[in-house]
Amino acid sequence: MAIITSEIRQLKRSMTIRYVIAITLIALFSIAAFLSMDSVIKGMDKNVYLVNVSGKQRLLSQYIALDAYRVYSATQTELDDNELQVIKWRLKKNLAEMAEVNEMLSQGRLKDGRLIHISPEVYNIYFGKGGLKFRVQQYLALVSLIIDLPEYKYKKIIILDIERFSEGLLNDLDKVVLQFQIEGEARLQKIKDTKLGLLVLTLLVLLLEVIFIFRPMVNRIVALSQMKAVALEDLERQVQLRTLHLEKMNKKLNQLAHHDALTGLRNRLNLEANIEQVLEASEKHGTEFAVLMLDMDWFKQVNDQYGHDMGDFVLRELAQILIQSVREGDHVYRAGGEEFVVLLNRISYLDAKQKAESIRKKVAEHVFSGNGVKLRKTLSGGLYHSSLAKVSGVKELFKLADNALYTAKNAGRNQIVEVTSTVQVEEKMA
Ligand code: GH3
Ligand code: MG
Ligand code: MG
Repeated sequence: MAIITSEIRQLKRSMTIRYVIAITLIALFSIAAFLSMDSVIKGMDKNVYLVNVSGKQRLLSQYIALDAYRVYSATQTELDDNELQVIKWRLKKNLAEMAEVNEMLSQGRLKDGRLIHISPEVYNIYFGKGGLKFRVQQYLALVSLIIDLPEYKYKKIIILDIERFSEGLLNDLDKVVLQFQIEGEARLQKIKDTKLGLLVLTLLVLLLEVIFIFRPMVNRIVALSQMKAVALEDLERQVQLRTLHLEKMNKKLNQLAHHDALTGLRNRLNLEANIEQVLEASEKHGTEFAVLMLDMDWFKQVNDQYGHDMGDFVLRELAQILIQSVREGDHVYRAGGEEFVVLLNRISYLDAKQKAESIRKKVAEHVFSGNGVKLRKTLSGGLYHSSLAKVSGVKELFKLADNALYTAKNAGRNQIVEVTSTVQVEEKMA
């Protein structure tokens, strides 16, 4: 049990450690997942912005081309001065904005100062063979010229240049938008992949935790409870065995305490108590009973003539005869030496008298044959029957029976004398 207690303490500690490890792993993993998703999504955020800006740049180039044409054709169309001023103002604003966007996209820096990673493809469009950055600058410079040129013929030259220019430019601006869109889609795909990857990883982490942390833990708990059950069972068995052993010992002790070692008959330990019980029952319910006090005649002679062992043999054999002569519920006691008491419960006077006589006769006719000796012995007895004399207690009953036995001895032995009245006791006591 002490082993189990220390095992439980150990299990508690290891369970706490395992829990902490499992939870820390999940927490770390969640933080890592959050950070990686966050960085991918942040990149996406910039990318969307870039798609917008590049799209706007493309649109601006178209507005600019349109407005440049309007400025050029202002003298031929009926455009009033005010309207022309508005167009020029808008053109200047768009030119400035496009210049700024051109700087931003080519340098990889957003308006708010945040840096963007420019892919080699975009870099190539801006700074490679086509040199989009420089071409945009040229285009913007060209358009700026047309705003303040007074001469229509010069304007015409420039507008032709702008037309020539803007077609290729639009194409390349389109490429930029397309490139940013491709990059955005790639990033979106990356998010999807990351999401799937994180899901798989999460499941993997949980699976590994189940395999390496929780399963061994459950196994240990199960093993421990099995150990505990086995230990308890063992303990229970031991207790049962000990109880059984104790019960046996108790029975043995009881047997030893209440029985005579030589004959196996009851000794006088419970004799008085048993008779007292029967006496009380008799007074209460009117049941009849008898007590037969027996003493072997001239027993001392057996010892003297044939030895103590022969004496013992005779006593044992006599005990057997007595036991076999009574009913199952009757008790036979060895009251001491060669004196015996037979307690016959629920018996009529006549039956008791007959039983006493039959015992006397049986013994008198019996041949004690042992140790190479054959001999006969007789018994004298005092018979008490509840119908013959009322007694106040077991002491008085014994005195009456003893008295009757004494009378039998005096009358020549080998006979049973009945207790007839209490007078005999009083006489003897006097
Ligand atoms: P009586 O007819 O007057 O009863 O004569 P008795 O010889 O039977 O009576 P007494 O009381 O003189 O002798 C009883 C003897 O029984 C004395 C004792 O040595 C013997 N005795 C008592 N217990 C035992 C025993 O356990 N074994 C043997 N072998 N003898 C015993
Ligand atoms: Mg005696
Ligand atoms: Mg005797």
